[in-house]
Amino acid sequence: MTARIIDGRAIASDLRTRIATQVATLGYRPGLAVVLVGDDPASKVYVRSKDRAAAQVGITARTIYLPADTTEAALLAQVAALNADPEIDGILVQMPLPAQIRVDAVLDAIDPAKDVDGLTPVSAGRLLAGRASLQPCTPRGVMHLLAETDLAGMRAVVLGRSVLVGKPMAALLTNAHATVTIAHSRTRDLADECRRADLVVAAIGRAEMIRGDWIKPGAIVIDVGINRLGDGRLVGDVAYAEALPIASAITPVPGGVGPMTIACLLENTVTAAIARRQLAAA
Ligand code: NDP
Repeated sequence: MTARIIDGRAIASDLRTRIATQVATLGYRPGLAVVLVGDDPASKVYVRSKDRAAAQVGITARTIYLPADTTEAALLAQVAALNADPEIDGILVQMPLPAQIRVDAVLDAIDPAKDVDGLTPVSAGRLLAGRASLQPCTPRGVMHLLAETDLAGMRAVVLGRSVLVGKPMAALLTNAHATVTIAHSRTRDLADECRRADLVVAAIGRAEMIRGDWIKPGAIVIDVGINRLGDGRLVGDVAYAEALPIASAITPVPGGVGPMTIACLLENTVTAAIARRQLAAA
């Protein structure tokens, strides 16, 4: 058996096409503000690709570059200005932030109605409560990849418990009626947790740590991890070649979960734009 390869590029491209079609019917251009503090090269690349992807679907992206020595107060003032700006539907503050700025203070300051990264405590609480919410983009992207899978009753393991990926991923799978285990660095026997799972979502950031013989035959494997090896190659958290003959479906790295993240940011921006105008009209 060889696993079906879940083509994240194709699924993300379909999603972006659907978003562009939807935006064309709105009669206005949703606005996305991306705030980048400092000049981390990886963040710059990421922010530029967000800009490009937004423009392609008809979203106006405004990137605000702030110097690395920006104070927390200055960033909070910038966020407050974007909260109040009627042209802006979504606000994303690019992480990581310089040490002098507390991430929690920034997340607390973002208007939850514009929280297109889904990381404010209000969005996280709504997700946990099973209510409509702006969801973190990467786990939401994974749910799109699993759209054809009946998750009800499925035994799922989420490897990683970050606020960005693992925790919201587990909440989304629980809301979709899977039976979810969250594993992390203190889990006693990670291999054993994996072997019992019909669905493995790996988000630990450890190159190829999940071996083929950890995968239950026929399981679905979603690899969120992005790890760069010494020779420059990008690999996931799962030993892909080993898992391929054992899993029933698997995401490659690159080309699996990665492309979904930006597509879901665009999707969240449109969702926020529509919701905000409906609220204003009510
Ligand atoms: P974090 O570093 O915030 O979290 C990693 C999680 O993995 C933690 O919960 C940690 O456990 C757990 N972990 C670390 N080492 C082990 C181990 N040896 N055994 C078991 N659990 C372990 O990372 P993120 O959640 O932000 O990202 C995870 C991965 O996903 C990274 O590779 C990142 O690059 C990638 N990523 C990909 C995205 C995409 O678009 N495809 C988007 C976001 C992230 P503990 O809590 O105990 O420390």
